[in-house]
Amino acid sequence: MNAPSTEHGEAYAPVLQGLWEYVRAEQEEILLSPYLPATYAFLTHVLLCAPFLALDALASVCPRVQMWRIPTRSGPPPSLKRWFDCFWRVLYRYLTSVLPATALFQILRSPTLPEVAPSCWRLFVEVFACFLLFDMLFFIWHFFMHRFPWLYCSVHQLHHQHHVTFALAAQDASAAELLSLLLLALSSAWVVGCHPLSEALFHLLNSWLAVEDHCGYDLPWALHRLLPCLGGAPYHQAHHVIFRGNYAPYFTHWDHLFGTYRASGQYSPE
Ligand SMILES: [Zn+2]
Ligand SMILES: [Zn+2]
Repeated sequence: MNAPSTEHGEAYAPVLQGLWEYVRAEQEEILLSPYLPATYAFLTHVLLCAPFLALDALASVCPRVQMWRIPTRSGPPPSLKRWFDCFWRVLYRYLTSVLPATALFQILRSPTLPEVAPSCWRLFVEVFACFLLFDMLFFIWHFFMHRFPWLYCSVHQLHHQHHVTFALAAQDASAAELLSLLLLALSSAWVVGCHPLSEALFHLLNSWLAVEDHCGYDLPWALHRLLPCLGGAPYHQAHHVIFRGNYAPYFTHWDHLFGTYRASGQYSPE
């Protein structure tokens, strides 16, 4: 059955159309606010980290939770103090650097709000295209961060202070790194020509995957177990321990292609 379409022949999903009309009517000011990307990125990150904070708190008393932790020889699981110190650092960098810089980017980008919501297929294709593009851009960015010592020291080293990762540490990075990664994500959505609904879903899933990558647990229900094209937490934990390889954030194909793939558990230095 064909999806309903507008008089211009644009297909849309009625459920998404209802949602989009409601959001557009009620929240237009927020949707067009230049502060939205940074606020959305920070709030989704903190909210998506909350279950992992509970898991880390449970790990000390529940052997099953402890079993799910990815074993490393680099130190004990993070304490609650490390979580809270990390929270304040990330908040400070967002307020002082990421928020003003992305606001300027949004003003230059001047987003618009189309009348029609996307079809479910268009939503899927746009989000998937964003992930493929962002994954490639991140791979290149990350590869060069580790290739040039001055770039590593001035931008990326701070993120590598955590040999044992935890969910909130996904954003524990220098202001330059936080800003460049958010700009890469915003630019990916811009280049793909995303509908605002597709873009919101992309940023939400992007936050979730970054949190999963850093959570420190190889959970039975983690996305990389459902989709083997994803590396997941074991793959990114290996990067934090051996510093080289596994440069892509989510998919593993670029690392396979460039010979930089390191199997999870392969923790001996090069
Ligand atoms: Zn790195
Ligand atoms: Zn990391």
